[in-house]
Amino acid sequence: MHTIAVVEDDRMLNEALARMLQKNGYQVTRAHTLAEGRKLAAGGPDLMIVDIGLPDGEGLDLCRMARREGEIPVLFLTARDEEADMLRAFDCGADDYLVKPFSLPVLLKHVEAILRRSGRERRTFRYQELTVDFDRKQVFCGEEPVRLTAREYALLELLVRNQGRVVTRKLILQQIWDAEGSFVEENTVNVTLNRLRKKIEPDPSSPVYIRNVFGMGYTFGK
Ligand code: CA
Repeated sequence: MHTIAVVEDDRMLNEALARMLQKNGYQVTRAHTLAEGRKLAAGGPDLMIVDIGLPDGEGLDLCRMARREGEIPVLFLTARDEEADMLRAFDCGADDYLVKPFSLPVLLKHVEAILRRSGRERRTFRYQELTVDFDRKQVFCGEEPVRLTAREYALLELLVRNQGRVVTRKLILQQIWDAEGSFVEENTVNVTLNRLRKKIEPDPSSPVYIRNVFGMGYTFGK
């Protein structure tokens, strides 16, 4: 699953983009300001969709950062009167742009094309004894393959891709259960998480991979 960061201060558009992308199998992180967008860029998404006009600065600044964070492709959104900015966007390395208003299916095609062009193959993730092969959706502890259910894997991938950040229970529910259209209680997350821990943690009672962040959610790694 590719992760796409949406940085757009228009809340309705931000929400609409996120829903459409999630429906099409992407994992989505969202921001409404440049400052929040910087945090998303640091998480190394596979693609960033960035509005040029953000309340606390220019989306273009994110482009430079996205380059530094390992060549994250950027698709800019621009209002019609911002075409000069659009030209500057290409100058600072943007991969594509769309002028508002645009249709969501068209945006989806642009997203697919950028991801194809950028050939963003999933990296293999390693942390201590744990290896996650995103392409094959396989997990290893040392050399031993770990058999995870689809949900356990999705949960692990979500946490790993957000390494070092707090992933809230709400986000987990949205990204994993809501995407399937199933309604669940928050406790379901705990149950799945505990099963996952039993399979990957050297000592599930004292986890080193998935840590609780009291009252908020979970974080992967340190
Ligand atoms: Ca804007």
